[in-house]
Amino acid sequence: MPEQQAWRPIDAGDETLRDALNEANIPALMTALVHLTGNADIIRGDIRPMENAFTDLQGAGIPPEQQQEIRDLAFDVIREFRDSGSQLPGIPDEATVQEMMNFISGHELENDYIDFLQSELSLQGESAFSQPAIELVEASQRENFSVLVIGAGMSGILAAIKLKEAGFTYTVVEKNPEVGGTWFENTYPGCRVDSPNHAYSYSFAPKDWPQYFSEQPVLLDYFKQVAEDNGIMDSIRFNTEVKRARFDEDTALWEVTIETPDGREVLFVNAVIAAVGQLNRPMIPDITGLSTFAGPVFHSGYWEHDHNLTGKKIVVVGTGPSAFQFVPRIASDAAEVNVFQRTAPWVFPKPEYQAFIPEGKHWLLKNLPYYAHWYRFFVFWHTSEGMMKAAIRDPSWNDSRAVSKENDIIRQLLQANAKSIVGADPELFAKVIPDYPPAAKRMLIDNGAWYNALKRDNVNIITDPIKRVTEHGVETESGQTIEADVLIFGTGFHATKFLWPMEIVGRGGVDLRSHWEDDPRAYRGVTVPMYPNFFIMYGPNTNIVVNGSIIFFSECEMRYILGCLAVLLAGRHRTMEPRQAVHDAYNERIDAGNLAMAWGTETVNSWYKNASGRVTQNWPFSLWEFWEQSKSADPNDYEFT
Ligand code: NAP
Repeated sequence: MPEQQAWRPIDAGDETLRDALNEANIPALMTALVHLTGNADIIRGDIRPMENAFTDLQGAGIPPEQQQEIRDLAFDVIREFRDSGSQLPGIPDEATVQEMMNFISGHELENDYIDFLQSELSLQGESAFSQPAIELVEASQRENFSVLVIGAGMSGILAAIKLKEAGFTYTVVEKNPEVGGTWFENTYPGCRVDSPNHAYSYSFAPKDWPQYFSEQPVLLDYFKQVAEDNGIMDSIRFNTEVKRARFDEDTALWEVTIETPDGREVLFVNAVIAAVGQLNRPMIPDITGLSTFAGPVFHSGYWEHDHNLTGKKIVVVGTGPSAFQFVPRIASDAAEVNVFQRTAPWVFPKPEYQAFIPEGKHWLLKNLPYYAHWYRFFVFWHTSEGMMKAAIRDPSWNDSRAVSKENDIIRQLLQANAKSIVGADPELFAKVIPDYPPAAKRMLIDNGAWYNALKRDNVNIITDPIKRVTEHGVETESGQTIEADVLIFGTGFHATKFLWPMEIVGRGGVDLRSHWEDDPRAYRGVTVPMYPNFFIMYGPNTNIVVNGSIIFFSECEMRYILGCLAVLLAGRHRTMEPRQAVHDAYNERIDAGNLAMAWGTETVNSWYKNASGRVTQNWPFSLWEFWEQSKSADPNDYEFT
């Protein structure tokens, strides 16, 4: 082990320590003890996390008496550490860190993974997403290169921060009056993140989150704070929307038409980064008679807070992640909530879903050396990469309710969870159990709020489709009439219409929409042939179903974009765009990958697919592969002018 390391002294009393240890994630605590003692024997014994510990984020499936054994040991070790001056033995050597990673993940991790996971773990504060190549480009070249970022949501904020750090001239345009994107727009009751917050944060801006899955106002504050802390606010033009961006082949500049509060304006820039997200143009289905409805009609993405829903009869359309979050909230005050379900969602039990992080956990995250690193790593693995295996289709599996044995185990677990809550009502139970495999559509996570809401006397799940809307309610296909005062659509977004409704015109005057038709594709999710110096964040095939946080993907994409700009400027080129053949081969691989996953199941519809059934949204491989492919841009993949 290397030399001793000083650590912020621990001054908590014994009682605080005991309370904190009662809240500890046991595997993270065990690895923290390796740091404290310099002895790795603690992770070499019989006490280890279950391989699939995603249902028990605290004990990780370790029996209670063994958990207590670890807490008792930790109490003695931390007291000794505190009382002897808080000196650490130093970071364990690489082989031990690898052993610790294997221990936490419950896997013998392959060598390829080690680099990636070590930088994700960031024991020495190293960045998992740095782009050293850009620093080799002359500062004046970077300064003279202008970039327009479209959108100031999660990805746009990140792009601006990284462009600023790298010394580019940049401007951000944002259609809303504030930063935050989806977290600014979605304000429906109950809106919260459904990826664990300790992974759903920028790698460079960790936060002591109040909840494991925090609510929208907390998320919005976080993004505002990060934007402010990183000094990008003055570079954002709010209430400004990009209407059209046209590449001028003579000047090699993008001519961007923006709609500002003072009218139209045209900007000329060397490159454009589109960071508009996949889910910000709400979709309301075209239902006969909708315009005749007498009461308020709105979409979850634009919640109309001025309507008092107390005592109202409400019809909700959709049972996706948005409706699933707001229905339990509105049900307690409404007279009646009738929820139209086209397809039942799979619901994953997560007891801590709405819980606040107890004081003891905050203490551990803030004070126990390296606990926060390993806790984030535990969450990262067990709620993301570790879940992928259960989503892989086994060609020899022939029960349409699952895609493999592992997937079927999850299915049974989810079904048992539903039964434990709604099992006493066989009709409701039959309605809420999907007939498709887990992970074929986005799974919801819950602490029981959804199923319990459906059990209420004033809530009904209706599977009979809507035939038409009338002045005072809806009529179903089977002729039932449902009265309503308010109609709320939780019907999702125009997700497959990437970048819509902006007009993006590339070489030869070709509009990207017509170039793509209904089939958006990009190289590494970021660049498109014929659209030089145009980069997309959260573009085609960069979404995830089971593994991880979309912020991770954005950080990879931004690193890749900087890698592209490094190649462009170091080569003193004016423009770059991916070679068609390289782009096509990449997409063939993606398509084959998606077909091999649960969400590629041909019989299941989702917003991940376009009209012809191709998965246009999702990344089918591991996080490691996405990270790896974003490390640098290969000049051989590109054509330059
Ligand atoms: P969504 O996942 O697209 O769900 C839309 C729902 O509306 C589905 O139940 C869908 O049924 C139904 N629907 C759509 N058109 C319909 C029609 N014509 N008739 C009847 N039902 C119809 O939309 P969302 O719930 O807004 O979520 C969108 C995405 O946003 C999520 O997948 C997730 O990625 C993200 N999101 C995240 C969070 C979070 O992190 N907390 C929260 C909300 C949303 P079918 O299933 O049959 O299509």
